[in-house]
Amino acid sequence: MITKEEIVRKANEFGFQDVGFTSAEPFPSQRKVLEERREYYQWAFDAGLDLMAGTDPQTILPEAKSIIVVMEVYFRESYPASMESHFGRCYLDDDRVTRDRLGNRIKGFRDYLRASGMRTKIPFHLPHRLAAARAGMGTFGKNCLFYTRQVAHQSSWVLPIAVVVDAVLEPDSPTLEVGCPDWCKNTCIIACPTGALLGPRKIDPRKCISYLTYFGDGITPRELREPMGLWVYGCDRCQNVCPRNAAWLAKELPVNQKVVSMVPDFRLDKLLHMDIPYFNTRVWPHMFYMSEKDIWRWKMNVARAMGNSLEPKYIPELVRAFGENEDERVLGMVAWALGRIGGKDAAQALQGLPQKGSELVAEEVTLALEETGVSR
Ligand code: SF4
Ligand code: SF4
Repeated sequence: MITKEEIVRKANEFGFQDVGFTSAEPFPSQRKVLEERREYYQWAFDAGLDLMAGTDPQTILPEAKSIIVVMEVYFRESYPASMESHFGRCYLDDDRVTRDRLGNRIKGFRDYLRASGMRTKIPFHLPHRLAAARAGMGTFGKNCLFYTRQVAHQSSWVLPIAVVVDAVLEPDSPTLEVGCPDWCKNTCIIACPTGALLGPRKIDPRKCISYLTYFGDGITPRELREPMGLWVYGCDRCQNVCPRNAAWLAKELPVNQKVVSMVPDFRLDKLLHMDIPYFNTRVWPHMFYMSEKDIWRWKMNVARAMGNSLEPKYIPELVRAFGENEDERVLGMVAWALGRIGGKDAAQALQGLPQKGSELVAEEVTLALEETGVSR
């Protein structure tokens, strides 16, 4: 049987700069949270993600004995500002579909473990951050994120990956506490624009912009449209404001060329006008939480971001999108965005929109015109 030292060395060779070990015992604290806050997570259960089962590694691998946690820094290279303003960093170079980077490294590491006689599973629904804390690899932030002990300047720009194995490996000492300094007066909780952070380590995921951008139902409620700002997919605000992340944010990092090459495809105007083939070939392989049937939500998010950008250059794009779309959620948000940009040109554009869509759309157009101070 291979030793922990050999596993660590191999994980390092595959680019995982930190490795920890914990037992495959259940996670009762996570189970308790899920039971107590069932309504917060009902959407996940409804989507077929059995988070409850994920709290017991033996439901995933009956012979499970240990968990090896490898730490991936997903922000080891810098990203263009035009991408960081609209998309959460953890989604920018996520190759779970393209499998050209991290996917290959995980596969190589798992192949090594298998060749050494271990059975392995990497379950999506296991509490990976909690596994990392139990393996002593860092502490929690009040924003519910995990802060690493030794890579990326102890920041939260990491993805702990828990590999359940059937081998007995000595566990490391847990670090299950919150590691925030007393002098930080809950900056993340105050800064969360949608009030998703209810208190230290307590989040209502249904209010989080990340959830709202890819799972939100119906047209985004009016009271959330401005707070959701420029985010189109994901949100990094509670990490950007965190002093525990300041040292890494200040670092000069090499530029991620893969993400640079994605910039033209992810321009807001391109996303607003994209058709299904464009979505499936250029967008979905990188950001895949929404399928083509949810393309309306992409467009609605983009229209809202254009509105919040206050950029008059988007007025013609929004008018064009009003003509191209039939979905009332897109049409309603396009009208809202024109009202949000405001000014004479936006008012004229709103007045010139064809009569189409449902009552909801007509109401959004009327309200948007009121925003600009001009009546229809
Ligand atoms: S990701 Fe954004 S919306 Fe979600 S908790 Fe953090 S600041 Fe709030
Ligand atoms: S902003 Fe402050 S309270 Fe929130 S995670 Fe960072 S250090 Fe902790």
